[in-house]
Amino acid sequence: MTKDEYIASLRALKRRVFILGERVENVVDHPLIRPSLNACAMTYELAQQPEYADLMRATSNLTGQTINRFTHLHQSTADLVAKVKMQRVLGQKTGCCFQRCVGMDAFNALDSVTCEMDRALGTKYHARFRAYLRDVQMRDLVVDGAMTDPKGDRRLSPSQQADPDLFVHIVERKSDGIVVRGAKLHQTGALNSHEIIVMPTQSLAEPDKDYAASFAIPADAPGIVMIVGRQPADTRKLESGQRDVGNREFGGHEAVIVLDNVFVPWDRVFMAGEHAFSGMLVERFAGYHRQSYGGCKTGVGDVLIGAAQSLAQYQGTDKASHVKDKIVEMIHLNETLYACGIACSIEGKPTASGTYLIDLLLANVTKLNVTRFPYEIARLAQDIAGGLLVTLPSEKDFANSEVGAVLEKYLRGVADYTTADRCRMLRLLENLTLGPGAAAYLTESLHGAGSPQAQRIMLARLADLETKTRLAKRLAGIGD
Ligand code: SF4
Ligand code: FE
Repeated sequence: MTKDEYIASLRALKRRVFILGERVENVVDHPLIRPSLNACAMTYELAQQPEYADLMRATSNLTGQTINRFTHLHQSTADLVAKVKMQRVLGQKTGCCFQRCVGMDAFNALDSVTCEMDRALGTKYHARFRAYLRDVQMRDLVVDGAMTDPKGDRRLSPSQQADPDLFVHIVERKSDGIVVRGAKLHQTGALNSHEIIVMPTQSLAEPDKDYAASFAIPADAPGIVMIVGRQPADTRKLESGQRDVGNREFGGHEAVIVLDNVFVPWDRVFMAGEHAFSGMLVERFAGYHRQSYGGCKTGVGDVLIGAAQSLAQYQGTDKASHVKDKIVEMIHLNETLYACGIACSIEGKPTASGTYLIDLLLANVTKLNVTRFPYEIARLAQDIAGGLLVTLPSEKDFANSEVGAVLEKYLRGVADYTTADRCRMLRLLENLTLGPGAAAYLTESLHGAGSPQAQRIMLARLADLETKTRLAKRLAGIGD
């Protein structure tokens, strides 16, 4: 699809959406949603441009046709690397979360897990999943990958909760499909998606087998309600001015998705009770999304470094040795994230279905660094920007006939640059480190694709400490 066809296709969906306490019919043009739509639409726009064709397009192993890479099953380590590079470019172009990666990561995880599940259990999910994905590829859809359940009392398993709906579960099995109930939180790009793929949120035991469910539903299926989450300073998007919002064109959004007795026909069900494979699905989806952050967050980091460097120039501090050193530190941290994203891709291996999986240990290292480095990059950027970052008067004050000229005079930096440009850059940096952009660049870096402890658990499990102790003992002359 072209960008315009994508936007038109979303208009055709009939959804139940709530924003700031009100039911919204025209989601596409809502000022809190439109920037996020623009960001997701960039995944279509760049795919049409010849200079990005190698990154944005791929040849489908299912149909042999040219498809958008966001719907592709990775067929090589080169595909895994191209994915990270594509995400960095999109982060650079939008300065925010462009949302479409969660679906891509869900496809790739489900492809290998359904294949291995069928082999072990004699189920028939893999062909069904591939038929579904073929349709997604041909129609060039955006699919939300929905994993995180509300989880209620964290001490209790899903079936032990006082309210059984705190994890998504199967409430009824029928001859033609299943009925599901529950909710998913933090759903990135929910309102810009045509479809939702639901997955379990954790590994599950036999008593929780009704919670081991994975399936695809249209975003406007009966019983679905979406409630949009707030972001810091989000209402600046509702203001008439252009400058104070910081990133005028782009942004992200997350929503609560409620599944109120939603019917799912069998041809859209990819797991229904096979609890032993829920952990594998979670681990692989999370692994792919941890790799993703080595691309997208690095791209946004490029924008932030550019903003800090520009402000230093506008203020005349760019030649100061400590400022140069801070910029170098930001570059070092940002490129380390990228290096990890590339490394876990190059070290990827084929799974039984032929789809390539990243190196899980290195993908978890990537994400654990992402939980820290963006905060340090943001701190250094704020250091360079100075206190005006949080004391700058409104764009409306600059337009005021009494005080506008006064602000122009007193907020001028180096004479070669306009006060307006200095203010614009301060607002962009504010957006990325304190405003709506910080929701994606900072807090999402911490908790998205799993909070830091989830990565630490994986590192402890995958690091093979026994081999390391054996290596040390041999050199130290200690026998087994
Ligand atoms: Fe993609 Fe990054 Fe947004 Fe996740 S946070 S959907 S990887 S842009
Ligand atoms: Fe995310």
